[in-house]
Amino acid sequence: MPTYDYRCEQCGKFQIEQSIKAKPLTQCPTCGNPVRRLIGKNVNVILKGSGFYSTDNRKESTTGKDSADKAS
Ligand SMILES: [Zn+2]
Repeated sequence: MPTYDYRCEQCGKFQIEQSIKAKPLTQCPTCGNPVRRLIGKNVNVILKGSGFYSTDNRKESTTGKDSADKAS
């Protein structure tokens, strides 16, 4: 599984293994504070803040069929 970097306001930076299909963490598993995912190795990227809303509204699971081959 890939390892992602997150930053917790309380605990600081940490890494966690997640499936590539898993939703990004929004809360620190340790203290429950909000976390941000750090993308890539240059962590200086500033997220503009409007990308995070309402990911929870899309819970339809298309698991399995998405990556199936539609090649024919
Ligand atoms: Zn924390």
